[in-house]
Amino acid sequence: MSRPTDTIAALATPVGTSAIAVVRVSGPDCASLAQGLFGPVPLPPRVARHTDYRNLQGAVLDDVLATFYQAPRSYTGEDSLEIALHGNPFIAQSILNDLLARGIRLAEAGEFTQRAFLCGKMDLSQAEAVMDLIHARSERALAAANQQLRGSLGRHLSELTEGLLLVLARIEAYIDFPDEDLPAEDRRIVVKELDTVLHGTARLLATHHYGELLRDGIKTVIIGEPNAGKSSLLNRLIGRDRALVSPEPGTTRDFIEERIILGPHCLRLIDTAGLNPSPAALEKLGMDKTLERAAEADLFLWVLDATRPIPALPDSVSSRLTPANTLVLLNKADLLAESTPLPFTALPSLSISALTGDGITSLGDHITRLADAFRFDQGDEIIAINARHADALRRATECLNTARDKVANSGPTELLASDLRGALDAFGEIAGKIDNERMLDHLFKTFCIGK
Ligand code: GDP
Repeated sequence: MSRPTDTIAALATPVGTSAIAVVRVSGPDCASLAQGLFGPVPLPPRVARHTDYRNLQGAVLDDVLATFYQAPRSYTGEDSLEIALHGNPFIAQSILNDLLARGIRLAEAGEFTQRAFLCGKMDLSQAEAVMDLIHARSERALAAANQQLRGSLGRHLSELTEGLLLVLARIEAYIDFPDEDLPAEDRRIVVKELDTVLHGTARLLATHHYGELLRDGIKTVIIGEPNAGKSSLLNRLIGRDRALVSPEPGTTRDFIEERIILGPHCLRLIDTAGLNPSPAALEKLGMDKTLERAAEADLFLWVLDATRPIPALPDSVSSRLTPANTLVLLNKADLLAESTPLPFTALPSLSISALTGDGITSLGDHITRLADAFRFDQGDEIIAINARHADALRRATECLNTARDKVANSGPTELLASDLRGALDAFGEIAGKIDNERMLDHLFKTFCIGK
């Protein structure tokens, strides 16, 4: 993709009434634009100037703070201008209209970050981290995005790439002399080196699920028989009445899903239809959906009615429950005259009352501890790759495995090199070193306007 030659502008803050809004401009015309708007004295780079904004007709639109950034020391790497105005959508629109009248074009979604990437200010994984940063919902997600923005994933990939280049160099010496075959000793070394790269790739791939948990929230499914108090618990945890609470069993047939922040984590709490051993037809439909949700849950909150016998769970659910992903909640503790022993020893359990709120703080601490264990660190860094990275790493793994088989089985050396290059290309895609215009366009379009 070639470097852009035009100048773009967009509102970088949400549309609405606020103290301040920011219009951002980037491209080669910024210096002359700043001179035309705020001259005759040029704006010194990186110094905010308090000034009037006058449109082409000379009318004052607002009293603004204008800052000029000289290339390459700007977010995009191009000359840029930031205009902080009063947060009135009408003023913002008037300023944008005036900029258009001066020959500036409206930016598309993600175009500023795309330019930063094209100017070499960041690699693709860092550009994606900007998005993650904007959308981070929890302390952990924020920490992971910040580390990725500072190049953590890029550094891990460079290590893998370097390891692979070493193998390639070793092999290429033999490609130039087709009569000579790779000696057995060298084959052993190559296999070992490939194993190191494969191992590193697998470690990065293993962070994909953690990436999903960070970006989407930890899927926490509330299960239990009808009337156990699942909806009451959801309402209690989110702090308001969201789910219908009714003394009539089977009232939650559709799913209610809410995100909550618990300590450093973001949870996607999902209330499900009760698991009834002998359901009515409509209830059965709800139960099937519960089973589907349970199949993909990260955490289970199994709510029991403390006044009733413990119900059996369908096998497909009970087989998924482990001490690492389940909390058994003995609800309606307020109805018991004295505390009863907790029902399970194999699964962590807790006595609560969704009605009075008793035990809910302790429940929060328990959930936080379980969620803490999902953390996936590489040394002191949090790595959490996204679906695009995972796809590239899977392709790299395939190429590496094929190459490894060929070396181990004395296959021809030239073919080996093409597999290794396939893996290198896949690594390169993650950082954006491989030019793929469609992928880049698609990726940046998922950003917001003004970013
Ligand atoms: P669900 O069917 O599992 O979602 O259960 P609900 O949350 O709708 O609750 C069923 C009934 O149990 C309602 O009448 C709630 O008020 C009541 N309930 C829920 N939790 C408690 C609790 O901790 N103590 C008492 N006494 N009643 C509760």
